[in-house]
Amino acid sequence: MAENDENSDKDAARVLKFPASRTNPPGSGGFTHLGTGAMARYLGMRDRQMTGHWCSRCRGIWFGYAFEVECPCCGNRHG
Ligand SMILES: [Zn+2]
Repeated sequence: MAENDENSDKDAARVLKFPASRTNPPGSGGFTHLGTGAMARYLGMRDRQMTGHWCSRCRGIWFGYAFEVECPCCGNRHG
């Protein structure tokens, strides 16, 4: 999968970028943290290596490998 890095433009386009950390103060009205993608868990990725992905079904964000598309919470693969 790593060989695909040069061709990641279309994948990167659907990935949400977050400028700050994944942590959110309680009661701030921010997004719901849905968990970590299976691929990122398998790879043992650190938080800073992971990318935030929006799940429209859960209305929250999950974190994982940039090329992952499946929400670890509900299995939605359409963002
Ligand atoms: Zn979901």
